[in-house]
Amino acid sequence: MGPDVVIGGGPSGAAAACTLAAGGQRVLLLERTAGPAQKVCGDFLSAGALSSLSALGLDAASLGAEPVGAMRLVLGSRRAEGRLPFRAAGLSRARLDEALLARAAALGAELQRGVSVRRLRDGAIETDRAGEIRPAAAFLATGKHDLRGARRRTEPGDLVGLKMYFDPHPAARADLRGFVEIALFRDGYAGLQLVEGGRLNLCALVRRRRLEECGGSWHRLLPALLAESPHLARRLADARPCLERPLAVAGLPYGFVHRAAEGDASSVYRVGDQMGVIPSLAGDGIAIALRTGRQAAADRLAGRGAAAYHRRLRRALIRPVGLAGVVHALCLSRHQEWAVAASRAMPGLIGMLAAWTRSGAALR
Ligand SMILES: Cc1cc2nc3c(=O)[nH]c(=O)nc-3n(C[C@H](O)[C@H](O)[C@H](O)COP(=O)(O)OP(=O)(O)OC[C@H]3O[C@@H](n4cnc5c(N)ncnc54)[C@H](O)[C@@H]3O)c2cc1C
Repeated sequence: MGPDVVIGGGPSGAAAACTLAAGGQRVLLLERTAGPAQKVCGDFLSAGALSSLSALGLDAASLGAEPVGAMRLVLGSRRAEGRLPFRAAGLSRARLDEALLARAAALGAELQRGVSVRRLRDGAIETDRAGEIRPAAAFLATGKHDLRGARRRTEPGDLVGLKMYFDPHPAARADLRGFVEIALFRDGYAGLQLVEGGRLNLCALVRRRRLEECGGSWHRLLPALLAESPHLARRLADARPCLERPLAVAGLPYGFVHRAAEGDASSVYRVGDQMGVIPSLAGDGIAIALRTGRQAAADRLAGRGAAAYHRRLRRALIRPVGLAGVVHALCLSRHQEWAVAASRAMPGLIGMLAAWTRSGAALR
């Protein structure tokens, strides 16, 4: 029988590979990128992500992560602030994902980079450059990319995610330090926070129609957003873009949580976004990815099949994913000012919502 194979080397796949290797299992991880790559992501590491990282032997602060302890919600000239009920951090995905892969290799996992899996068929994994592999067990960790033969049953949403790094003006950097900010605007919102080296990550989610109004061009959308949001304009005043063009992603199936079905293979475990997709606003997708990767691998090591794992994880994820969906829908709606008004009227609300949309407690 072949090794266990992890398909995809994001946080969920790397966490599964680390756990399997640490448990003495032979494991091969296939990742299609040949080297470090940034991803569309707000780069916010919640408490659950930080605790999973330390369980895997990694310390975000040593990787250069910026500490985050509070949140600011801004719409036009109105703003609300609240402390987060946990410690959090900002770290770029290229830095995080590479550190996790290096950790998996150090624990004994075999990594093959630059290898794309084409499909799963009758228990076999077909790849572009490594032939066909018959794994003992497979871990589906391909994030938003579905594999032929193992597609998720999802409804793609109409949101587009856009991410850009900036070198901000020192005054904006000082203002932002310690905060994650959400700036609301018509048909969307953007997260702002610092990552290692003091760069600013602007990660926006916009309805497709808003992008189409600007001819599908980031270079026209950004000035429109800055004109609408004085806060964004202040944050980006004299900021220098660090990428030639933004990274983009579309068709995000927010709210998806995998449901185990009759006939699912007992040795194919879904992890990360293949298991559940929490709206980005919650900033908990990485935590879920790490936790599900670790949990699936632990279940596999203990001889527990995928169906029981999928059922347990579905129960754990339904509530935080659903609640995050409600907040996300409000922040995208015509009533988005209610989110700011309620957060101002109830000073503890931001912290409470941050706590309720965590997956961690349920996954422990
Ligand atoms: C706009 C936006 C903002 C977000 N902001 C945050 C945030 O601030 N904090 C947070 O916690 N979460 C955030 N998330 C969610 C988070 O990015 C994801 O939940 C997380 O990346 C999921 O991890 P994963 O390992 O499942 O997938 P991924 O991180 O997507 O990794 C999948 C990996 O699989 C590889 N792969 C794909 N297909 C194949 C194939 N066929 N063969 C081989 N390899 C393959 C890819 O190259 C990739 O490396 C955000 C998401 C979006 C869209």
